[in-house]
Amino acid sequence: MIITDTGVPEKHIAYDEWGGETMRRLEDGWCSALDRETYLCTIYEQRPWICREFEVGSYECLVERQELDNYQNNSLG
Ligand code: SF4
Repeated sequence: MIITDTGVPEKHIAYDEWGGETMRRLEDGWCSALDRETYLCTIYEQRPWICREFEVGSYECLVERQELDNYQNNSLG
């Protein structure tokens, strides 16, 4: 469960096969709350707990970025 009581707008919440809440992703694979022009979070003050804990530039962050790059390259190719 990643959604907490921080006020994430319903339109950005998706539900997995077990009913758990996740952040919705658009067809490009990125979070629906991400501004595609600025790459900034459009719900920064309401972002869920996991986003508050995730350190930008950390190992985990870089792995996620690489996996997304791989996903996008495979989707385009
Ligand atoms: S911090 Fe990133 S992943 Fe989290 S809600 Fe904002 S855009 Fe989505």
